[in-house]
Amino acid sequence: MNAAALTDAAKKFLKVKIVNKNYDVIVVGSGVAGLYCALNLKPDAKVLLLCKRQLTLSNSSLAQGGVAAVIDEENDSIASHQNDTLIAGGFKNNPDSLKLLVTKGPEEVRKLIDYNVDFDRDGNGNIHMTLEGGHSKPRILHHKDCTGREIVEKLIEAVKKLPNVTIMEDTMVCDLKKSAHGFSVDTLHVKENRREEYSAHFCLLATGGIGRVYKYTTNSKIATGDGIALAYRIGAKIKNLHLVQFHPTAFNNSNTRECFLISESVRGEGAYLLNCNKERFMDRYDERLELAPRDVVSQAIIKEEARTGSYKFYLDITYKPADFIRNRFPMIYQNLLKEGYDMTKDLIPVYPCQHYLMGGIDVGLHSETSIDGLYAAGECSHTGVHGNNRLASNSLLEALVFSKQAALDINEKLSGNLPEIIPYNFPIQTDPKPLPPGTRTEVRAIMQKAHFVVPNPAEALRGFERLRELKHFLDDGNFEVTPDFIEARSLTTVAYLMLKEMI
Ligand SMILES: Cc1cc2nc3c(=O)[nH]c(=O)nc-3n(C[C@H](O)[C@H](O)[C@H](O)COP(=O)(O)OP(=O)(O)OC[C@H]3O[C@@H](n4cnc5c(N)ncnc54)[C@H](O)[C@@H]3O)c2cc1C
Repeated sequence: MNAAALTDAAKKFLKVKIVNKNYDVIVVGSGVAGLYCALNLKPDAKVLLLCKRQLTLSNSSLAQGGVAAVIDEENDSIASHQNDTLIAGGFKNNPDSLKLLVTKGPEEVRKLIDYNVDFDRDGNGNIHMTLEGGHSKPRILHHKDCTGREIVEKLIEAVKKLPNVTIMEDTMVCDLKKSAHGFSVDTLHVKENRREEYSAHFCLLATGGIGRVYKYTTNSKIATGDGIALAYRIGAKIKNLHLVQFHPTAFNNSNTRECFLISESVRGEGAYLLNCNKERFMDRYDERLELAPRDVVSQAIIKEEARTGSYKFYLDITYKPADFIRNRFPMIYQNLLKEGYDMTKDLIPVYPCQHYLMGGIDVGLHSETSIDGLYAAGECSHTGVHGNNRLASNSLLEALVFSKQAALDINEKLSGNLPEIIPYNFPIQTDPKPLPPGTRTEVRAIMQKAHFVVPNPAEALRGFERLRELKHFLDDGNFEVTPDFIEARSLTTVAYLMLKEMI
Protein backbone atom coordinates (compact mmCIF):
# COMPACT_ATOMS: atom_id res chain seq x y z
CA MET A 1 0.00 0.00 0.00
CA ASN A 2 1.38 3.38 -0.94
CA ALA A 3 0.66 5.57 2.10
CA ALA A 4 1.48 8.80 0.30
CA ALA A 5 -1.23 8.12 -2.26
CA LEU A 6 -3.97 8.17 0.37
CA THR A 7 -5.65 11.32 1.59
CA ASP A 8 -6.13 11.66 5.35
CA ALA A 9 -9.84 11.14 4.96
CA ALA A 10 -9.31 7.99 2.94
CA LYS A 11 -6.89 6.64 5.53
CA LYS A 12 -9.46 7.19 8.26
CA PHE A 13 -12.28 5.69 6.24
CA LEU A 14 -10.30 2.62 5.25
CA LYS A 15 -8.74 2.28 8.73
CA VAL A 16 -5.52 1.54 6.86
CA LYS A 17 -2.49 0.53 8.88
CA ILE A 18 0.62 1.91 7.29
CA VAL A 19 3.43 -0.41 8.17
CA ASN A 20 7.18 -0.35 7.84
CA LYS A 21 8.27 3.06 8.92
CA ASN A 22 11.65 2.27 10.38
CA TYR A 23 13.83 4.36 12.66
CA ASP A 24 17.00 3.73 14.64
CA VAL A 25 15.45 4.77 17.93
CA ILE A 26 11.89 5.33 19.11
CA VAL A 27 11.63 7.58 22.16
CA VAL A 28 8.22 7.44 23.84
CA GLY A 29 7.67 10.59 25.88
CA SER A 30 8.36 14.31 25.67
CA GLY A 31 9.10 15.03 29.32
CA VAL A 32 12.60 15.81 30.51
CA ALA A 33 13.69 12.16 30.13
CA GLY A 34 12.49 11.75 26.53
CA LEU A 35 13.70 15.15 25.35
CA TYR A 36 17.11 14.86 26.97
CA CYS A 37 17.64 11.40 25.50
CA ALA A 38 16.79 12.71 22.02
CA LEU A 39 19.29 15.56 22.48
CA ASN A 40 22.04 13.15 23.41
CA LEU A 41 21.54 10.59 20.64
CA LYS A 42 24.03 10.69 17.76
CA PRO A 43 23.16 13.35 15.18
CA ASP A 44 23.03 10.69 12.45
CA ALA A 45 20.62 8.44 14.38
CA LYS A 46 17.12 8.46 12.88
CA VAL A 47 14.92 9.17 15.89
CA LEU A 48 11.15 9.17 16.31
CA LEU A 49 9.88 11.00 19.41
CA LEU A 50 6.27 10.29 20.33
CA CYS A 51 3.97 11.81 22.92
CA LYS A 52 0.32 11.09 23.46
CA ARG A 53 -0.87 14.69 23.86
CA GLN A 54 0.81 18.08 23.35
CA LEU A 55 4.60 18.16 23.71
CA THR A 56 4.38 20.23 26.87
CA LEU A 57 1.75 18.18 28.69
CA SER A 58 3.76 16.17 31.19
CA ASN A 59 4.73 15.90 34.82
CA SER A 60 8.01 17.54 33.86
CA SER A 61 6.17 20.72 32.90
CA LEU A 62 4.50 20.78 36.32
CA ALA A 63 7.73 20.61 38.33
CA GLN A 64 7.89 23.63 40.56
CA GLY A 65 10.62 23.45 43.18
CA GLY A 66 13.64 22.76 40.99
CA VAL A 67 16.47 20.41 40.33
CA ALA A 68 18.95 19.34 43.01
CA ALA A 69 22.68 19.29 42.21
CA VAL A 70 25.93 20.18 43.91
CA ILE A 71 27.29 22.97 41.76
CA ASP A 72 28.80 24.94 44.66
CA GLU A 73 31.50 22.57 45.92
CA GLU A 74 32.88 25.20 48.32
CA ASN A 75 29.78 25.18 50.50
CA ASP A 76 28.31 21.80 49.64
CA SER A 77 29.55 18.33 48.73
CA ILE A 78 28.57 15.35 46.60
CA ALA A 79 28.90 13.19 49.73
CA SER A 80 26.33 15.33 51.52
CA HIS A 81 23.84 15.11 48.60
CA GLN A 82 24.39 11.36 48.55
CA ASN A 83 23.88 11.10 52.30
CA ASP A 84 20.68 13.19 52.29
CA THR A 85 19.31 10.98 49.48
CA LEU A 86 20.16 7.86 51.49
CA ILE A 87 18.46 9.20 54.61
CA ALA A 88 15.29 10.11 52.68
CA GLY A 89 15.35 6.71 50.96
CA GLY A 90 15.68 4.80 54.25
CA PHE A 91 19.11 3.54 53.08
CA LYS A 92 17.32 1.28 50.59
CA ASN A 93 18.84 3.17 47.63
CA ASN A 94 20.93 1.38 45.03
CA PRO A 95 24.43 2.65 45.91
CA ASP A 96 25.82 2.48 42.36
CA SER A 97 22.97 4.30 40.67
CA LEU A 98 22.87 6.87 43.46
CA LYS A 99 26.61 7.53 43.06
CA LEU A 100 26.08 8.02 39.34
CA LEU A 101 23.20 10.41 39.99
CA VAL A 102 25.05 12.71 42.36
CA THR A 103 28.38 12.68 40.53
CA LYS A 104 27.07 13.09 36.95
CA GLY A 105 24.17 15.33 37.97
CA PRO A 106 26.04 18.65 38.24
CA GLU A 107 27.45 18.30 34.70
CA GLU A 108 24.00 17.66 33.20
CA VAL A 109 22.46 20.55 35.14
CA ARG A 110 25.19 22.87 33.82
CA LYS A 111 24.31 21.66 30.30
CA LEU A 112 20.79 22.93 30.89
CA ILE A 113 22.28 26.41 31.20
CA ASP A 114 23.88 25.86 27.75
CA TYR A 115 20.35 25.10 26.49
CA ASN A 116 19.38 28.57 27.82
CA VAL A 117 17.50 27.38 30.90
CA ASP A 118 17.20 30.52 32.98
CA PHE A 119 17.84 29.53 36.59
CA ASP A 120 17.18 32.31 39.13
CA ARG A 121 20.24 34.25 40.25
CA ASP A 122 21.07 36.28 43.32
CA GLY A 123 22.05 39.97 43.36
CA ASN A 124 25.66 39.04 42.46
CA GLY A 125 24.64 37.06 39.42
CA ASN A 126 25.34 33.69 41.07
CA ILE A 127 22.79 30.92 40.69
CA HIS A 128 20.35 31.11 43.59
CA MET A 129 19.98 27.83 45.39
CA THR A 130 17.12 27.06 47.67
CA LEU A 131 16.56 24.52 50.42
CA GLU A 132 13.91 21.80 50.40
CA GLY A 133 12.79 19.16 52.88
CA GLY A 134 15.44 16.51 53.56
CA HIS A 135 18.34 18.50 52.02
CA SER A 136 21.00 19.61 54.50
CA LYS A 137 22.22 22.39 52.19
CA PRO A 138 20.53 24.77 49.78
CA ARG A 139 21.27 22.99 46.47
CA ILE A 140 18.05 23.36 44.49
CA LEU A 141 18.41 25.30 41.24
CA HIS A 142 15.11 26.78 40.21
CA HIS A 143 13.31 29.11 37.85
CA LYS A 144 10.95 30.90 40.21
CA ASP A 145 8.37 28.24 41.09
CA CYS A 146 7.95 26.88 37.56
CA THR A 147 11.29 25.20 36.93
CA GLY A 148 9.87 22.26 35.00
CA ARG A 149 8.08 24.42 32.45
CA GLU A 150 11.24 26.46 31.87
CA ILE A 151 13.39 23.34 31.35
CA VAL A 152 10.84 21.62 29.10
CA GLU A 153 10.37 24.70 26.89
CA LYS A 154 14.11 25.14 26.41
CA LEU A 155 14.69 21.45 25.70
CA ILE A 156 11.82 21.39 23.19
CA GLU A 157 13.36 24.40 21.44
CA ALA A 158 16.65 22.49 21.17
CA VAL A 159 15.08 19.19 20.01
CA LYS A 160 13.06 20.98 17.34
CA LYS A 161 16.33 22.15 15.80
CA LEU A 162 17.58 18.57 15.35
CA PRO A 163 17.07 17.41 11.75
CA ASN A 164 17.41 13.74 12.74
CA VAL A 165 14.45 13.81 15.16
CA THR A 166 10.86 13.43 13.94
CA ILE A 167 8.40 14.63 16.57
CA MET A 168 4.82 13.34 16.63
CA GLU A 169 2.40 14.89 19.09
CA ASP A 170 -1.00 13.40 19.92
CA THR A 171 0.39 10.00 19.02
CA MET A 172 -0.29 7.36 21.59
CA VAL A 173 1.59 4.10 21.78
CA CYS A 174 -1.08 1.42 22.20
CA ASP A 175 1.13 -1.63 21.95
CA LEU A 176 4.80 -2.52 21.94
CA LYS A 177 6.25 -5.77 20.62
CA LYS A 178 9.70 -7.19 20.25
CA SER A 179 10.32 -7.74 16.55
CA ALA A 180 13.25 -9.40 14.83
CA HIS A 181 16.26 -7.09 15.57
CA GLY A 182 14.24 -4.37 17.23
CA PHE A 183 10.85 -3.19 18.42
CA SER A 184 7.57 -2.31 16.78
CA VAL A 185 4.98 0.05 18.18
CA ASP A 186 1.32 0.24 17.26
CA THR A 187 0.21 3.86 17.60
CA LEU A 188 -3.04 5.80 17.58
CA HIS A 189 -2.90 9.28 16.09
CA VAL A 190 -5.45 10.58 18.53
CA LYS A 191 -6.78 13.59 16.60
CA GLU A 192 -7.31 11.75 13.32
CA ASN A 193 -8.24 8.42 14.94
CA ARG A 194 -5.64 6.82 12.68
CA ARG A 195 -3.41 3.85 13.50
CA GLU A 196 0.19 3.55 12.33
CA GLU A 197 3.04 1.23 13.14
CA TYR A 198 6.69 2.12 13.51
CA SER A 199 9.76 0.04 14.18
CA ALA A 200 13.26 0.75 15.47
CA HIS A 201 16.34 -1.07 16.66
CA PHE A 202 16.05 0.55 20.09
CA CYS A 203 13.21 1.92 22.13
CA LEU A 204 13.30 4.21 25.16
CA LEU A 205 10.21 4.37 27.35
CA ALA A 206 10.04 7.77 29.05
CA THR A 207 6.32 7.74 29.71
CA GLY A 208 6.29 9.23 33.21
CA GLY A 209 4.32 8.34 36.32
CA ILE A 210 1.13 6.63 37.46
CA GLY A 211 -0.65 9.39 39.41
CA ARG A 212 -3.96 8.86 37.66
CA VAL A 213 -4.30 5.49 39.36
CA TYR A 214 -5.39 7.59 42.38
CA LYS A 215 -8.40 9.75 42.94
CA TYR A 216 -6.30 12.70 44.05
CA THR A 217 -2.88 13.35 42.57
CA THR A 218 -0.59 16.21 41.64
CA ASN A 219 0.17 14.47 38.33
CA SER A 220 -0.74 15.53 34.82
CA LYS A 221 -3.49 13.62 33.05
CA ILE A 222 -0.90 11.80 30.92
CA ALA A 223 0.35 9.95 34.04
CA THR A 224 -1.47 6.66 33.49
CA GLY A 225 1.47 4.25 33.65
CA ASP A 226 1.30 3.30 29.95
CA GLY A 227 5.03 2.60 29.61
CA ILE A 228 5.10 0.36 32.66
CA ALA A 229 2.13 -1.62 31.35
CA LEU A 230 3.68 -1.90 27.86
CA ALA A 231 7.00 -3.11 29.29
CA TYR A 232 5.26 -5.56 31.62
CA ARG A 233 3.30 -7.04 28.75
CA ILE A 234 6.47 -7.91 26.85
CA GLY A 235 8.05 -9.43 29.94
CA ALA A 236 10.32 -6.64 31.23
CA LYS A 237 11.13 -6.77 34.93
CA ILE A 238 9.06 -4.29 36.96
CA LYS A 239 10.14 -3.41 40.48
CA ASN A 240 8.88 -1.65 43.60
CA LEU A 241 5.60 -0.30 42.23
CA HIS A 242 4.26 -0.18 45.78
CA LEU A 243 6.75 2.58 46.58
CA VAL A 244 4.53 5.59 46.01
CA GLN A 245 5.31 9.04 47.32
CA PHE A 246 2.51 11.12 48.76
CA HIS A 247 3.22 14.82 48.82
CA PRO A 248 2.19 16.31 52.16
CA THR A 249 1.07 19.68 50.88
CA ALA A 250 -1.22 19.60 47.86
CA PHE A 251 -3.84 22.36 47.79
CA ASN A 252 -6.85 20.82 49.53
CA ASN A 253 -9.54 21.04 46.91
CA SER A 254 -11.52 17.86 46.53
CA ASN A 255 -13.38 19.28 43.50
CA THR A 256 -10.60 18.51 41.05
CA ARG A 257 -8.67 15.33 40.31
CA GLU A 258 -5.38 17.13 39.62
CA CYS A 259 -4.46 18.73 42.92
CA PHE A 260 -2.31 21.79 42.63
CA LEU A 261 0.99 21.36 44.45
CA ILE A 262 2.18 23.78 47.10
CA SER A 263 5.86 23.14 46.53
CA GLU A 264 8.25 21.87 49.18
CA SER A 265 10.17 25.08 48.67
CA VAL A 266 7.36 27.03 50.37
CA ARG A 267 8.28 25.11 53.54
CA GLY A 268 11.93 25.47 52.48
CA GLU A 269 11.48 29.23 52.63
CA GLY A 270 10.02 28.96 56.12
CA ALA A 271 6.27 28.21 55.91
CA TYR A 272 4.76 26.58 59.00
CA LEU A 273 2.45 23.58 58.86
CA LEU A 274 -0.59 24.03 61.10
CA ASN A 275 -3.37 21.70 62.28
CA CYS A 276 -7.09 22.48 62.54
CA ASN A 277 -6.42 24.52 65.69
CA LYS A 278 -3.89 26.64 63.72
CA GLU A 279 -1.06 25.17 65.83
CA ARG A 280 2.30 23.89 64.59
CA PHE A 281 2.47 20.16 65.30
CA MET A 282 5.46 18.64 63.50
CA ASP A 283 7.50 18.66 66.75
CA ARG A 284 5.30 15.77 67.93
CA TYR A 285 6.51 13.62 65.04
CA ASP A 286 9.99 14.60 63.86
CA GLU A 287 12.79 16.87 65.02
CA ARG A 288 13.30 18.16 61.47
CA LEU A 289 9.84 19.73 61.80
CA GLU A 290 8.40 21.04 58.51
CA LEU A 291 11.60 20.12 56.67
CA ALA A 292 11.39 16.39 57.36
CA PRO A 293 11.18 14.22 54.20
CA ARG A 294 7.83 13.92 52.45
CA ASP A 295 6.79 10.50 53.75
CA VAL A 296 7.45 11.61 57.32
CA VAL A 297 5.42 14.82 56.92
CA SER A 298 2.56 13.02 55.08
CA GLN A 299 2.35 10.35 57.78
CA ALA A 300 2.52 13.03 60.50
CA ILE A 301 -0.51 14.71 58.92
CA ILE A 302 -2.47 11.45 58.90
CA LYS A 303 -1.53 10.79 62.56
CA GLU A 304 -2.42 14.36 63.54
CA GLU A 305 -5.75 13.93 61.75
CA ALA A 306 -6.43 10.85 63.90
CA ARG A 307 -5.43 12.81 67.04
CA THR A 308 -7.53 15.91 66.33
CA GLY A 309 -10.32 14.28 64.34
CA SER A 310 -10.00 16.89 61.60
CA TYR A 311 -8.58 16.72 58.07
CA LYS A 312 -8.00 20.48 58.03
CA PHE A 313 -4.36 21.47 57.67
CA TYR A 314 -2.72 24.70 56.55
CA LEU A 315 0.54 26.20 55.40
CA ASP A 316 1.35 29.62 56.78
CA ILE A 317 3.95 31.85 55.14
CA THR A 318 2.14 35.11 55.87
CA TYR A 319 4.89 36.32 58.20
CA LYS A 320 7.27 36.77 55.22
CA PRO A 321 7.24 40.03 53.22
CA ALA A 322 4.45 40.04 50.62
CA ASP A 323 6.83 41.13 47.83
CA PHE A 324 9.16 38.25 48.57
CA ILE A 325 6.29 35.75 48.43
CA ARG A 326 4.87 37.11 45.17
CA ASN A 327 8.28 37.17 43.52
CA ARG A 328 9.52 33.81 44.80
CA PHE A 329 6.27 31.89 44.16
CA PRO A 330 4.52 33.69 41.28
CA MET A 331 2.77 30.59 39.90
CA ILE A 332 1.58 29.29 43.27
CA TYR A 333 0.51 32.81 44.24
CA GLN A 334 -1.57 33.24 41.08
CA ASN A 335 -3.10 29.77 41.25
CA LEU A 336 -4.14 30.33 44.85
CA LEU A 337 -5.58 33.75 44.03
CA LYS A 338 -7.80 32.04 41.43
CA GLU A 339 -9.05 29.78 44.23
CA GLY A 340 -9.75 32.79 46.46
CA TYR A 341 -6.65 32.64 48.67
CA ASP A 342 -4.01 35.35 48.94
CA MET A 343 -0.99 33.48 50.34
CA THR A 344 0.59 36.72 51.56
CA LYS A 345 -2.34 37.09 53.99
CA ASP A 346 -4.26 33.79 54.13
CA LEU A 347 -3.49 30.34 55.43
CA ILE A 348 -3.29 27.81 52.57
CA PRO A 349 -5.47 24.67 53.04
CA VAL A 350 -3.36 21.57 52.31
CA TYR A 351 -3.62 17.79 52.49
CA PRO A 352 -1.43 14.90 51.24
CA CYS A 353 -1.99 13.42 47.80
CA GLN A 354 -0.28 11.02 45.39
CA HIS A 355 2.78 12.63 43.85
CA TYR A 356 5.51 10.31 42.62
CA LEU A 357 6.39 6.70 41.90
CA MET A 358 9.76 5.43 43.12
CA GLY A 359 9.38 2.02 41.44
CA GLY A 360 8.90 1.22 37.78
CA ILE A 361 10.57 -0.61 34.90
CA ASP A 362 13.72 -2.00 36.43
CA VAL A 363 16.89 -0.67 34.76
CA GLY A 364 20.64 -0.89 35.15
CA LEU A 365 23.24 1.86 35.10
CA HIS A 366 22.75 2.42 31.36
CA SER A 367 18.97 2.57 31.76
CA GLU A 368 18.76 -0.80 30.07
CA THR A 369 15.75 -2.92 30.97
CA SER A 370 15.78 -6.70 31.29
CA ILE A 371 14.89 -6.85 27.55
CA ASP A 372 17.77 -6.33 25.15
CA GLY A 373 17.42 -3.05 23.28
CA LEU A 374 14.61 -1.70 25.46
CA TYR A 375 15.48 1.24 27.72
CA ALA A 376 13.49 3.19 30.30
CA ALA A 377 14.23 6.53 31.94
CA GLY A 378 12.55 9.10 34.14
CA GLU A 379 9.59 8.41 36.37
CA CYS A 380 8.50 5.21 34.61
CA SER A 381 11.84 3.60 35.43
CA HIS A 382 13.25 2.08 38.59
CA THR A 383 16.94 2.97 38.87
CA GLY A 384 16.93 2.49 42.63
CA VAL A 385 18.35 5.97 43.28
CA HIS A 386 15.46 7.01 45.51
CA GLY A 387 15.28 3.96 47.77
CA ASN A 388 11.99 3.89 49.65
CA ASN A 389 11.30 7.60 49.29
CA ARG A 390 12.50 10.22 46.82
CA LEU A 391 14.32 13.25 48.12
CA ALA A 392 12.78 16.48 46.79
CA SER A 393 14.09 17.70 43.41
CA ASN A 394 16.03 14.51 42.70
CA SER A 395 13.67 13.28 39.99
CA LEU A 396 14.40 15.89 37.33
CA LEU A 397 18.04 15.11 38.02
CA GLU A 398 17.41 11.38 37.63
CA ALA A 399 15.56 12.00 34.35
CA LEU A 400 18.54 13.98 33.00
CA VAL A 401 21.31 11.66 34.14
CA PHE A 402 19.68 8.36 33.22
CA SER A 403 18.19 9.41 29.89
CA LYS A 404 21.70 10.48 28.91
CA GLN A 405 23.03 7.10 30.08
CA ALA A 406 20.51 5.44 27.75
CA ALA A 407 21.51 7.68 24.85
CA LEU A 408 25.22 6.96 25.33
CA ASP A 409 24.60 3.21 25.42
CA ILE A 410 22.37 3.33 22.34
CA ASN A 411 24.93 5.49 20.48
CA GLU A 412 27.59 2.89 21.09
CA LYS A 413 25.38 0.07 19.84
CA LEU A 414 24.33 2.08 16.79
CA SER A 415 27.98 2.33 15.75
CA GLY A 416 28.07 -1.37 14.88
CA ASN A 417 26.47 -3.03 11.85
CA LEU A 418 22.87 -3.69 12.75
CA PRO A 419 20.73 -6.22 10.87
CA GLU A 420 17.59 -4.94 9.18
CA ILE A 421 14.51 -4.90 11.42
CA ILE A 422 11.65 -7.17 10.49
CA PRO A 423 8.58 -5.35 11.83
CA TYR A 424 6.13 -7.19 14.05
CA ASN A 425 2.85 -7.83 12.29
CA PHE A 426 0.13 -6.42 14.56
CA PRO A 427 -3.17 -8.24 13.97
CA ILE A 428 -6.10 -6.19 12.66
CA GLN A 429 -9.12 -6.25 14.97
CA THR A 430 -12.48 -7.33 13.68
CA ASP A 431 -15.72 -6.00 15.22
CA PRO A 432 -14.26 -4.52 18.41
CA LYS A 433 -16.70 -3.39 21.11
CA PRO A 434 -16.66 -0.07 22.97
CA LEU A 435 -15.28 -0.23 26.51
CA PRO A 436 -18.07 -0.02 29.10
CA PRO A 437 -17.68 3.15 31.21
CA GLY A 438 -16.48 3.19 34.82
CA THR A 439 -13.24 1.16 34.81
CA ARG A 440 -10.95 4.01 35.76
CA THR A 441 -13.29 5.23 38.49
CA GLU A 442 -13.35 1.77 40.01
CA VAL A 443 -9.55 1.40 39.88
CA ARG A 444 -9.06 4.79 41.54
CA ALA A 445 -11.51 3.97 44.33
CA ILE A 446 -9.71 0.67 45.02
CA MET A 447 -6.29 2.32 45.19
CA GLN A 448 -7.45 5.20 47.35
CA LYS A 449 -8.69 2.69 49.94
CA ALA A 450 -5.85 0.19 49.67
CA HIS A 451 -2.77 2.35 49.56
CA PHE A 452 -3.04 6.00 50.57
CA VAL A 453 -0.11 7.28 52.69
CA VAL A 454 -0.50 4.36 55.12
CA PRO A 455 -1.21 1.02 53.36
CA ASN A 456 -4.35 -0.90 54.33
CA PRO A 457 -3.59 -4.66 53.94
CA ALA A 458 -7.24 -5.83 54.12
CA GLU A 459 -8.35 -3.37 51.43
CA ALA A 460 -5.25 -4.24 49.38
CA LEU A 461 -6.22 -7.91 49.35
CA ARG A 462 -9.84 -7.18 48.45
CA GLY A 463 -8.74 -4.69 45.80
CA PHE A 464 -6.24 -7.08 44.28
CA GLU A 465 -8.88 -9.77 43.67
CA ARG A 466 -11.07 -7.26 41.84
CA LEU A 467 -8.17 -5.83 39.85
CA ARG A 468 -7.19 -9.32 38.71
CA GLU A 469 -10.70 -9.78 37.28
CA LEU A 470 -10.66 -6.36 35.64
CA LYS A 471 -7.24 -6.99 34.14
CA HIS A 472 -8.40 -10.25 32.53
CA PHE A 473 -11.54 -8.53 31.28
CA LEU A 474 -9.50 -5.82 29.55
CA ASP A 475 -6.65 -8.02 28.32
CA ASP A 476 -8.91 -10.69 26.86
CA GLY A 477 -11.77 -8.54 25.54
CA ASN A 478 -11.94 -7.29 21.96
CA PHE A 479 -12.26 -3.56 22.73
CA GLU A 480 -12.02 -0.57 20.40
CA VAL A 481 -8.56 0.92 20.69
CA THR A 482 -9.28 4.40 22.04
CA PRO A 483 -7.26 6.56 24.46
CA ASP A 484 -9.81 5.66 27.13
CA PHE A 485 -9.28 1.94 26.60
CA ILE A 486 -5.47 2.20 26.49
CA GLU A 487 -5.32 4.26 29.67
CA ALA A 488 -7.90 2.13 31.51
CA ARG A 489 -5.87 -0.97 30.66
CA SER A 490 -2.62 0.68 31.79
CA LEU A 491 -4.11 1.91 35.06
CA THR A 492 -5.60 -1.50 35.80
CA THR A 493 -2.33 -3.31 35.04
CA VAL A 494 -0.30 -0.90 37.16
CA ALA A 495 -2.76 -0.98 40.09
CA TYR A 496 -2.84 -4.80 39.90
CA LEU A 497 0.98 -4.95 40.02
CA MET A 498 1.12 -2.45 42.88
CA LEU A 499 -1.26 -4.41 45.07
CA LYS A 500 0.30 -7.73 44.06
CA GLU A 501 3.56 -6.52 45.60
CA MET A 502 1.75 -5.49 48.79
CA ILE A 503 -0.19 -8.62 49.63
C1 LIG B 1 3.21 18.96 40.43
C2 LIG B 1 4.57 18.31 40.33
C3 LIG B 1 5.69 18.99 40.81
C4 LIG B 1 6.95 18.40 40.73
N1 LIG B 1 8.05 19.11 41.15
C5 LIG B 1 9.28 18.56 41.00
C6 LIG B 1 10.44 19.31 41.30
O1 LIG B 1 10.37 20.47 41.70
N2 LIG B 1 11.65 18.71 41.13
C7 LIG B 1 11.79 17.43 40.69
O2 LIG B 1 12.91 16.95 40.56
N3 LIG B 1 10.70 16.72 40.36
C8 LIG B 1 9.47 17.25 40.49
N4 LIG B 1 8.36 16.51 40.15
C9 LIG B 1 8.54 15.18 39.56
C10 LIG B 1 9.06 15.31 38.14
O3 LIG B 1 8.45 16.40 37.51
C11 LIG B 1 8.78 14.06 37.32
O4 LIG B 1 9.13 12.92 38.02
C12 LIG B 1 9.61 14.06 36.03
O5 LIG B 1 9.50 15.30 35.41
C13 LIG B 1 9.14 12.96 35.11
O6 LIG B 1 9.69 13.18 33.85
P1 LIG B 1 9.50 12.09 32.72
O7 LIG B 1 10.21 12.61 31.54
O8 LIG B 1 9.88 10.77 33.25
O9 LIG B 1 7.90 12.02 32.49
P2 LIG B 1 6.86 13.14 32.08
O10 LIG B 1 7.48 14.48 32.17
O11 LIG B 1 5.63 12.92 32.83
O12 LIG B 1 6.60 12.84 30.53
C14 LIG B 1 5.90 11.69 30.13
C15 LIG B 1 5.71 11.74 28.62
O13 LIG B 1 5.30 10.45 28.17
C16 LIG B 1 4.28 10.60 27.21
N5 LIG B 1 3.48 9.37 27.18
C17 LIG B 1 2.94 8.69 28.22
N6 LIG B 1 2.28 7.61 27.78
C18 LIG B 1 2.40 7.59 26.44
C19 LIG B 1 1.92 6.75 25.40
N7 LIG B 1 1.16 5.66 25.64
N8 LIG B 1 2.22 7.06 24.12
C20 LIG B 1 2.96 8.15 23.82
N9 LIG B 1 3.44 8.99 24.76
C21 LIG B 1 3.16 8.71 26.05
C22 LIG B 1 3.51 11.82 27.66
O14 LIG B 1 2.74 12.33 26.60
C23 LIG B 1 4.67 12.72 28.11
O15 LIG B 1 5.18 13.40 27.00
C24 LIG B 1 7.09 17.09 40.21
C25 LIG B 1 5.96 16.42 39.74
C26 LIG B 1 4.71 17.02 39.79
C27 LIG B 1 3.53 16.27 39.28
